[in-house]
Amino acid sequence: MSGLHHVTAIAGNAQRNFDFYTRTLGLRFVKRTVNFDDPGTYHFYYGDEAGNPGTILTFFPWEHAAAGRGGVGQTHQTSFRVPLSAIGYWTQRFTEHGVAYEPLEKRFGETVLAFSDPDGMSLALIGIPGAENEPAWTAGGIPAEYAIRGFHGVTLLLDSAERTGAILTDVFGFKETGRDGSVIRYTAQGQNNGKEPGSIVDIYEAKGFLAGRQGRGSVHHIAFRAADDAEQAEMARKLVTTHRLRPTEQKDRNYFRSIYFREPGGVLFEIATDIPGFAVDEPVESLGHALKLPSFLESHRAQIEKVLPALGELVS
Ligand code: ZN
Repeated sequence: MSGLHHVTAIAGNAQRNFDFYTRTLGLRFVKRTVNFDDPGTYHFYYGDEAGNPGTILTFFPWEHAAAGRGGVGQTHQTSFRVPLSAIGYWTQRFTEHGVAYEPLEKRFGETVLAFSDPDGMSLALIGIPGAENEPAWTAGGIPAEYAIRGFHGVTLLLDSAERTGAILTDVFGFKETGRDGSVIRYTAQGQNNGKEPGSIVDIYEAKGFLAGRQGRGSVHHIAFRAADDAEQAEMARKLVTTHRLRPTEQKDRNYFRSIYFREPGGVLFEIATDIPGFAVDEPVESLGHALKLPSFLESHRAQIEKVLPALGELVS
């Protein structure tokens, strides 16, 4: 199994982030928890019905975070899959909801509708023929035939694609599948070769560009899938022996187990296990409704609830 597991980004105001992703984009709020390393702040997870790998976008909402600046060494854009026939619907919806979007463009022959979230995060919808036949979570009044079907992928803006591309192909099971101008496409090789959510990593080679600065509206890190601990350990072994990179020790994130490393182009990469998933501490039917804490923070629940900003009703 290969592909993206999740993408984690930095937001400003928590309520504004929550409203945009659940109401405007209609994603499911699959987990309401805190940043385990900074439990006075939220960690929000959005995805499909069950929060399957390849559909999960997560945020650290930091009210006073300074705005980020795009540039080399960063994730340049995060894109979602929608049915090709839904692009017109989304253009109209963005106009009605005051969402900033760009004129339609073509990339690798696909229709791309680029837009930004309220913190300036760079996003896109990619029109996929036939995606209307895939299951979809719907909220915010969005008809099922137009709803988002997980990630298409990410675009990394790097000085050079070579060493990062070697990690994608050698460690994460991607294959170079095309070039369009300065962009090199890598596609996850799995059961469906590129037709599963989160199968695409594009590297936009931009020599001599300014380095980016992480902040509000920036991607913090991207996570790749490992089926289980054994597959993750094998990936770590390859990183050490073949690529001279040393990932961190494993951290238990409750819903998956993770290791991290900085890839040669400057982007923070994570390898997250598919198991145990988001239903480990609440049933799929009620994901996202209650504040969930890892067991080591449960005894501090009252204090944590006092400092977290209140959130409005969950619509779903
Ligand atoms: Zn992560």
